[in-house]
Amino acid sequence: MAEIRLQQLAHSYSGGADYALRQLDHVWAQGGAFALLGPSGCGKSTLLNIISGLLTPSEGQVLFDGRAVNALTPEQRNIAQVFQFPVVYDTMTVFDNLAFPLRNQGMAAERIERKVREIAEVLELTPLLAKRARNLSADEKQKVSMGRGLVRDDVSAILFDEPLTVIDPHLKWKLRRKLKQIHEQFNITMVYVTHDQLEAATFADKIAVMYGGQIVQFGTPRELFERPAHSFVGYFIGSPGMNLLDVTPWEGGVCLGEHRLPLPPALCARVAEGGWQRLQAGIRPEFVKVYEAPSEHALAAQLLHTEDLGTYKILTLELAGQRLKARLPEQREVPAGPVYLGFPAPWLMLYGDDHLLEAAP
Ligand code: ADP
Ligand code: MG
Repeated sequence: MAEIRLQQLAHSYSGGADYALRQLDHVWAQGGAFALLGPSGCGKSTLLNIISGLLTPSEGQVLFDGRAVNALTPEQRNIAQVFQFPVVYDTMTVFDNLAFPLRNQGMAAERIERKVREIAEVLELTPLLAKRARNLSADEKQKVSMGRGLVRDDVSAILFDEPLTVIDPHLKWKLRRKLKQIHEQFNITMVYVTHDQLEAATFADKIAVMYGGQIVQFGTPRELFERPAHSFVGYFIGSPGMNLLDVTPWEGGVCLGEHRLPLPPALCARVAEGGWQRLQAGIRPEFVKVYEAPSEHALAAQLLHTEDLGTYKILTLELAGQRLKARLPEQREVPAGPVYLGFPAPWLMLYGDDHLLEAAP
């Protein structure tokens, strides 16, 4: 078990300026259950392979418990890694596959037997222990692959790279729960890579959102939802994602076309600093207030269409020439006439060139 610290990490596969990872500083605390979430191609596997030592970074350092491990091989780093596709020895039995990492360590046969049976039980592989791996289904092979990652409890960390891709949907949920249980039981640092926000939120206590080779926010699922530090987090987390509306500065806040959105004085001071290419107001569809009558701060909008999703409704609206969405509970009637919108101050975020503007302390 170890704290994993990444310092000024950068990587380019070509050696040129096309960086797959850019200027990454990050700490995975010892014993945590973390997710690394981001779209395909954002650099998740690159980062994982640098941590495990399969890949040498072009720049920067990886430290385990404060000790640089850049020069160490994957074996020396003592990391278990589970990949997207199963890695099993086809000619060996399931038992031998699971026992392999332990035999390599020279563990006593009796203890191996106990550990293998324990992990087989957790992953529901017990009936298959005597079977050769080549005769297994893709699901089963992946479970064996995961078992090989989980069987050792002396590892510095376990890294999972989209491990449930080949797993049947009904099994996915179950396996995710199991991984969480295993984490609670052994308290090993785990980093779980996925492009699925639900998967990330069910597994992890804290999620690192990755975009364009950088970690743009590291927080609890709630923090990512309520206070996205980067407009990409707003857009990527939530369904649908955050509304991002182009605005212009005004002394008491920002303007959205003809409309004025007042902001607290401390934030107005930030807006007054200026210098951004793009200034956006962000508000999640869940937090947009929808009224049927005008009031002081409500903004007249046009309702374009409504999607009824059973337990809630999504309204698509137009406000000052820009599209946005609002989410209504199922019992709320959709206004038949004119629509007025309210943006409650606590949920209205401001982004300058994609970064959240915070009031200076
Ligand atoms: P993710 O796992 O998030 O989908 P990757 O880490 O695999 O992303 O890839 C990040 C970027 O690096 C992508 O642009 C990808 O095309 C590029 N890349 C990944 N592996 C290699 C490689 N072996 N050689 C060259 N480019 C690569
Ligand atoms: Mg990948």
